[in-house]
Parts: sequence; C-alpha cells; structure tokens
Amino acid sequence: MDNPASDFVRDIVAADTASGKHELIVTHFTPEPNGCRHIGHGKSICLNFSIALENKGRCHLRFDDTNPATEETEYVEAIKNDVRWLGFDWGEHLHYASDYFEPLYGYAVELIKRDKAYVCTLDSEQFKEYRGVPTRPGKESPSRNRPIEESLDLFERMKNGEFDEGQYVVRAKIDMNSPNLHMRDPVLYRIRKMAHHRTGDKWCIYPMYDFTHCLSDSIEGITHSICTLEFEVHRPLYDWILDSLEVYHPQQIEFARLNLTYTVMSKRRLLELVQGGLVSGWDDPRMPTLAGLRRRGYTPSAIREFCARVGVTKVNSLTDIALLEFCIREELNRTAPRAMAVLEPLKLIIDNYPEDQVDELDGINNPEDPAMGTRKVPFTRELFIEQDDFRAEPPPKFHRLSPGREVRLRYGYIIKCVGHDTDEAGRVTAVHCTYDPATRGGTAPDGRKIKGTIHWVSAVQSAEVEVRLYDRLFTREKLDDLEAGDDFKNYLNPDSLKTVKARVEAWLIQAGQGSRYQFERKGYFCVDPVDSTDGKPVFNQIVPLRDSWARLNKPQ
Ligand code: ATP
Ligand code: MG
Repeated sequence: MDNPASDFVRDIVAADTASGKHELIVTHFTPEPNGCRHIGHGKSICLNFSIALENKGRCHLRFDDTNPATEETEYVEAIKNDVRWLGFDWGEHLHYASDYFEPLYGYAVELIKRDKAYVCTLDSEQFKEYRGVPTRPGKESPSRNRPIEESLDLFERMKNGEFDEGQYVVRAKIDMNSPNLHMRDPVLYRIRKMAHHRTGDKWCIYPMYDFTHCLSDSIEGITHSICTLEFEVHRPLYDWILDSLEVYHPQQIEFARLNLTYTVMSKRRLLELVQGGLVSGWDDPRMPTLAGLRRRGYTPSAIREFCARVGVTKVNSLTDIALLEFCIREELNRTAPRAMAVLEPLKLIIDNYPEDQVDELDGINNPEDPAMGTRKVPFTRELFIEQDDFRAEPPPKFHRLSPGREVRLRYGYIIKCVGHDTDEAGRVTAVHCTYDPATRGGTAPDGRKIKGTIHWVSAVQSAEVEVRLYDRLFTREKLDDLEAGDDFKNYLNPDSLKTVKARVEAWLIQAGQGSRYQFERKGYFCVDPVDSTDGKPVFNQIVPLRDSWARLNKPQ
C-alpha cells in the first residue's frame, strides 16, 4: 500500500525515536532452521524488515539454532532464500544464536555468582511435580540453596561432559509461587550429548530458548524484539534475565499471529500433510508455505501487500484467504500479459470459412497497459471453445453459444450456431457455425446487439499443455476449533487439484518458468518451475478471475 497504516508496534517505535531513546532502530527475524516457513512467517518477515526500512534502521536475520536435535543446515539456505525472495536484505547482519554459546555460558556463570541461578538435580518428572500448576504454588527444589561455589563447580563439570543427559540442569532462581509457570525457576541450560550443525562437538550443554533469545537480542543491540502473542507470558522472564545481569535491555513486543481461513498454519499439521503424502511436498502449490505460494505463482509484492493490509494487532483473529487472492489478482491485472486458453476444449467448425485460410487477428496484450501492445492471433476454420460455452438446450439468460444463436469470438467475428455433432452417448463432440465476414473485430455493421463474447483458440495453430486447477486445500473455514477426536485431515478438499489438458495460443509453449499470464475469462496462471521442461510448460492456476472479495468490500 502507498501509505502503510500505522499500528501499535510502529507507534512504539515512532515514540522511541521521537524521545531519542534509540538512534538506530534494530529489529530481527529469528526463525528456527527447520523445514516449515509459511505465510505467517512471511508476516513476521515483512513487519520486522519494513519497520527497519521505514526508520532507516536495520533488521537482523538470526537463526534460533539452540536445539541440536532438530536443526539442519539445508534449511538455513532455504530460509535465506525465502527472505531474499520477499525482497528483504539483512546486509551484514546474518547471525546465529549458536554464535553466542560462549558469552551465554559466561552469563549463566554470572547469574550463578549473583545467586540468581543454581544447578539442580531434579529429574524431569520431579521437575514437573515440583513446579505445580498455575492455581497452586510450586515447591522449591532441594538444590535451590546449594552453595554458589558448588553450583559453579557442577556447571563447569556439566560443560566438561562429566555427567549424563538429564542428570543436572541449570535453573534460574526466581519464584516458585509465581502464578506464571515460566517464572517458577525455569531451566536455563541442559545437557545434550549431541553434535550441533554449527558448533560440532564443542558443547554438550545447550542453553534454553528463553535464556538465549533475550541475551542474543541484548548482544546484538536489538531495540524492538517483535514476536508473536504466545511469548507474552515469557516476557517477565525475558525482562528478569536481562535485569538480573544488568545488561542492555531491548523491548519485547508481541503481536497476533496470522491465521487464514481454509488453511492450517501449524508446523505439526503441515508436516503431517507432507509426511502423509497428502500433498506433493512442502512446495505443493496448495500449501500456505512460502515455497508453495512461490511455486503457485504468487509474487513477493502481492504477499507484502497482503501483509500490509492484514495489519498488526494484539488480538488473535482469522484473516479471509480471499484477501490474499485479491492482492495477487489486483497486481496481475496490471502486469500479466493476456492470452487465450481453452481449458476444456470442444471443437468448433466454421462451415463457411475457407479450409486453408488463416486470418491474423489483433489481440490486446493488456487492456490495463497499452504499452504492452498487441499480438497476432491466428483464426482458422477449426477452433476450440470451452465445453461449457455451448449448450444444446440453453437455460434462461445463457448468452453464450446455443443452436440458432449468435456470439462474438474474442478479437474475431460474430458467429452463428447452425448445428452440432454428438456421439452415441449424446455428448456434444463438435459445434458447427457460420461466421459473418463483415464483423471482423467483433461489431456488426447493422448495429445488432450481441450479448456474449467467448474465448477460443485455433485448432491447428494452438498447443496442448497441462494445466493444474487448484481449489482450497480444506473445505472448512476454521480448523482451529475442532472437537476433540476430530481430525483436521477430515476436511481436506478432495477436489483441491484438477489436472486438465488445455489448448493454448501456440506462443505460450515458449513461456519461461515462473512467468505469469491471464488466461482470459479463466484466471491467472504461472508456469510451474518444477515440472515444466523446455517447450513443455505446465501451468498452475494462481487464482480464478472472480473477484468476490473486492465486490463484498467495496465502499457503498
Ligand atoms: P515454533 O513453534 O516451532 O517456534 P514457529 O512457527 O514459531 O514455530 P519460528 O521459526 O520460531 O517458527 O518462527 C520465527 C518467527 O516467526 C517467530 O518470531 C514467530 O513468532 C513468527 N511466526 C510464526 N508463525 C507466525 C504466524 N502465523 N504469524 C506471524 N508470525 C509468525
Ligand atoms: Mg518459534
């Protein structure tokens, strides 16, 4: 949008700039390097990088790689690629939480020295039991009053690999009676005898997320640590750690995550779809992943526009997926070259048109952008039209082709239906028409009104291509309020993918991977970057043309 509406996060940043609290605004995107990056992450990327850009500040990309068990290097490259694709640049500021393992260890030692952390011997069962529940106070660990020197010694020996996993942990010494469970002496460090994708075997103790995140923010001089609402309950701990160590203290700000209708966004559910073979992979064009949207044909600018329109709030809500579709449609209406494609072809024969004649008609490449010019569209005796543009027995108000009626062929002539062929089952196999040579360009010299215009391609000068038509992946609008025992997979749409053999203008055979077109009257399509080969493009439908969201939301 030209004028990004302000929001509460931008208001905080603006106030901090105005008061001189910060000279330079520093935000971050801190993904965990795992397989799942979806449009929700896109919202976080857009928010953080845009705020940095708007304030001439900077945005760091920091991999939250504290868990040696789950992270893989290949995902680091994929995430960098996603952020770049969305149009953002972290400059020099590519960081890894694992870069800070050394200072983090030092900070944990310092907390112990300040009597604000201790080495605890409770195992995980006992830990849970002692922690209690929100409505009941917890119980202090017998290790809580271990002498500082002893904790320091044990922590060093944990680091040196002298103990087994689970034998000891380091815990913050806060308040076992806090109504906030995160404040009941949370674990800061644990033993994991596991190699890390960046630090190898150097460490066998790993810091927990809450300890790592705030201190990494502090080390990097992040001014506004923007995250999603579920971290609100972690904020007291974020603040406690930084205050206890008396180090630079960024401000954590939480906003509501993006949720979309007819879409699942949870990492676990998306993984289930991939592993269960219910989609073709993380980049299946029906997936809400950035890889899926990219393959489907979404542009980075449409996604940025969508994120700007969704805005930033403190209240969890559900965004209509039609808004996302509206954004890509609006952009491609301006930029996508038009072409004619017949998705479900029916032969149309113009009985009075000479067999070998080819008429080069002028097709407009984009009515929204005259600079895109025109192209020649070959008109021949045999054409293809859509099966549903002909009805042997037309219902009322059917303005397309039917026996005895006239229709206009896009860029071409007015034709009149004079008959049709059927097979034994009664299915229409071809339609016969005559054309009126005086109507080239689509207007009748006698001024007679023709209501319908249909698209077509030449039967001999067109190409057959595979087109994949997509519908929503789920049939249910909300997937987060299912009854216990009900499975989200019960709501998979069995018709979310339909593959057709379409006929398209012949030049489309050369369409490059990732290029986008409007197939007139049908929608926007993109050449699939994975399954297309030279001279054999496969087209993904990005969105149909129908524009329900815009109509519903037009100011009255
Ligand atoms: P996990 O629960 O495993 O941490 P995650 O979806 O939060 O999964 P991260 O890689 O940790 O994945 O997320 C990186 C950033 O993206 C975080 O700041 C997170 O809050 C944000 N984020 C994740 N999902 C959404 C969403 N649906 N809308 C907006 N931001 C999101
Ligand atoms: Mg997370």
